[in-house]
Amino acid sequence: MRLSDDEQDESDSSSVPDEVHTICFLCGGGGAIADAKLAVVGGQPRTVDNGRPCALCATEGNLAGIVPPV
Ligand SMILES: [Zn+2]
Repeated sequence: MRLSDDEQDESDSSSVPDEVHTICFLCGGGGAIADAKLAVVGGQPRTVDNGRPCALCATEGNLAGIVPPV
């Protein structure tokens, strides 16, 4: 395996997206937050985690622009 020097020629401008987004810091980009609850299923107590939609990014997983966590 051999690496060529041409890989150094990549322009940085090509790696910058036109639109800047911030990964949602509340859900980590998943769009949902773990929401474990106690449930009794068939007479047995269980933990049910259906999750709930992220209130911060509305399940998008990212926020428009640069948003610092407050
Ligand atoms: Zn989110």
